[in-house]
Amino acid sequence: MKVLIIGSGAREHAIAWKLSQSQYCEKIFVAPGNAGTAQFATNVDVSVTDFEEIAKFATDFDIMMVVVGQEAALVDGIHDYFLATEYLKEILVIGPCKAGARLEGSKDFSKNFMQKYGIPTAKSRTFTAENFDEGLAYLETQSFPTVLKADGLAAGKGVIIAKDLEEARYHFKDMLQNQRFGKASAKVVVEEFMEGIELSAFILTDGKEYVLLPEAKDYKRIGEGDIGLNTGGMGSISPVSFADETFMNKVKQRIIEPTLLGLQAENIPYTGFLFIGLMNVGGDPFVIEYNVRLGDPETESILPRIKSDLFELFEAMHDHTLSSFKLEVDPRTAATVMLVAGGYPENYEKGKEISGLDKAPDVQVFHAGTKLTHEKKVVTDGGRVIAVTALGENLEDALQKANNAATNIKWQGRYFRKDIGFDLMALEKL
Ligand code: ATP
Repeated sequence: MKVLIIGSGAREHAIAWKLSQSQYCEKIFVAPGNAGTAQFATNVDVSVTDFEEIAKFATDFDIMMVVVGQEAALVDGIHDYFLATEYLKEILVIGPCKAGARLEGSKDFSKNFMQKYGIPTAKSRTFTAENFDEGLAYLETQSFPTVLKADGLAAGKGVIIAKDLEEARYHFKDMLQNQRFGKASAKVVVEEFMEGIELSAFILTDGKEYVLLPEAKDYKRIGEGDIGLNTGGMGSISPVSFADETFMNKVKQRIIEPTLLGLQAENIPYTGFLFIGLMNVGGDPFVIEYNVRLGDPETESILPRIKSDLFELFEAMHDHTLSSFKLEVDPRTAATVMLVAGGYPENYEKGKEISGLDKAPDVQVFHAGTKLTHEKKVVTDGGRVIAVTALGENLEDALQKANNAATNIKWQGRYFRKDIGFDLMALEKL
């Protein structure tokens, strides 16, 4: 069967890599892909939100399955587009329709959804330019730090943690009156700050049945010690030691199952991955956010741990047999370290030649922002450039392998955090 993967990050490279191991995948295309996916799949030069071109390609090349890696295409309705087109209806799309993608596309929608279905999350209220003054008055009643969130997609930058009232007022105004994030901040969610440790849970679901995938922890900030600006993610670890059976049972009973029941009650069909960003507050899980696709760089740590055939898992979703699917998971630890361009997440240069990609034994190298030049050189083409994933008998072992390989992969200005997983190691030693 021919499969088309939508996206160009290390996540999509990892999905393509995993699917390439399936005997059922005859050929893999990635739109637009990167230099890494070009090694074993065929890149298709089309934008992720150009549905017309994607549809044309899918028909011309007899694609039977489309795996949507990134959110913008889902929020813009790629699945709906396929369903509404006679000759595309039969193609299995992994990823929800527009209605389900609102769980990620609108924080106001997802907060209302959680409130309605009793899903534990931080208390919040949403404001617009119309009730701006009411919002300012509300801020005065809050304890600090407090969290301000742009309602729509803002490439992971739309969340501000304000340390005091003055800062909160400034950002509230900047978002609502100065349209700091454009349309995405036409609504602002003001949310209570939760104290705890974060982790990410993932399921694949047909809207009713689901399979719980391995959990992961990601590292968002640019600096070691988790300080500085937020990034798309600087590394990830799976499994997460504190996500034991008791904790994960709470996640299933209090969060995953009510979420699926809520979607059914709202008549929202859902086929695809659901990623639940969680805060562990004193042993109890609270939802920070929903994402309607896999995470990046979490995918790079979880897919290498999944021993089952990913294609068969997708087929089980299609056949509504997920609840009897026995997911085989490697008990070893996966550590992913993300190598980024100097200056990221602010200004950075592209086009730097990457060396040492062949000096990475014992690890899996997933490309993110990379490109192949006419001279067949691999050069940087984005902020996050390469993800290195290692499996180890324990966290220390996995991290050592990943960091060693990361050290060998070089380009001018390349940076990576050397403290990924340190917090979990410290917890393990308690
Ligand atoms: P992402 O990049 O994961 O898509 P996002 O922009 O959709 O992020 P959130 O995940 O809601 O936004 O928040 C980003 C980060 O801000 C969280 O990972 C968490 O570290 C922090 N955060 C968000 N909400 C809260 C909260 N209520 N309490 C404490 N921290 C929070």
